[in-house]
Amino acid sequence: MSTVEISDLHKSFGRLEVLKGIDFTVESGQVVCVIGPSGSGKSTLLRCVNLLEQPTSGKVIVDGVDLTDPDVDIDAARRRIGMVFQQFNLFPHLTVRRNVTIAQERVLKRRRDECDSVARENLEKVGLLEKLDAYPPQLSGGQQQRVAIARALAMNPSLMLFDEPTSALDPELVGDVLSVMRQLAEDGMTMLVVTHEMGFAREVADRVVFMDGGVIVEDGPPEQVIADPRHERTREFLRRVL
Ligand code: ADP
Ligand code: MG
Repeated sequence: MSTVEISDLHKSFGRLEVLKGIDFTVESGQVVCVIGPSGSGKSTLLRCVNLLEQPTSGKVIVDGVDLTDPDVDIDAARRRIGMVFQQFNLFPHLTVRRNVTIAQERVLKRRRDECDSVARENLEKVGLLEKLDAYPPQLSGGQQQRVAIARALAMNPSLMLFDEPTSALDPELVGDVLSVMRQLAEDGMTMLVVTHEMGFAREVADRVVFMDGGVIVEDGPPEQVIADPRHERTREFLRRVL
């Protein structure tokens, strides 16, 4: 479990300023959902938290390690952060087992039998142990996303980032992925989740952050931000998605 502290985070792409001074924290074991319109900078924010994007300025501290310090061991820090994308990004030509063991073996240098037992343990967690020897194209989108979650968990992250993990799924497959995420939250994982699933945010999130135009407009418990928003921009967004 970890703590995330983001302060005065700015990110520009050329002359386009996408993040305009973001401040927030995620306490250890908390689930924070980030909501907001398309283009508001949600993905860029997540990508700055594991340095898939280099912030233009500001600080990102995870587990007490300042990721924006030029002397930081980025690979070591990033290893503690799991990320799940909208597109699952599994290797289609490798079995489920291999998808879940390959980074354990190559990055963490675990022994093969240990990789295998960690893979089993995490595939069981997402309800897909029986798919160990299947290939991703043989699985539904929801199953592939659950494999992607198992793959991330196999690296023993202290923080999990989710970027619209159910947005590419057929509606009937969304529930299984959300219940895996809900279980993970109950087990105490620290999670930062970009989502349009307001039911999930309302029930699982400790806090909901509403972003618009590269700033945080509203940050509070779901019963405030979703059920009783203070700002007109939040209300207008919620009218469109609820
Ligand atoms: P969201 O996830 O909220 O939809 P994004 O963070 O993906 O928003 O994008 C915010 C803005 O940043 C958009 O205008 C997008 O076009 C721009 N953007 C994102 N990534 C890049 C990039 N690598 N280069 C240039 N512009 C980018
Ligand atoms: Mg996005």
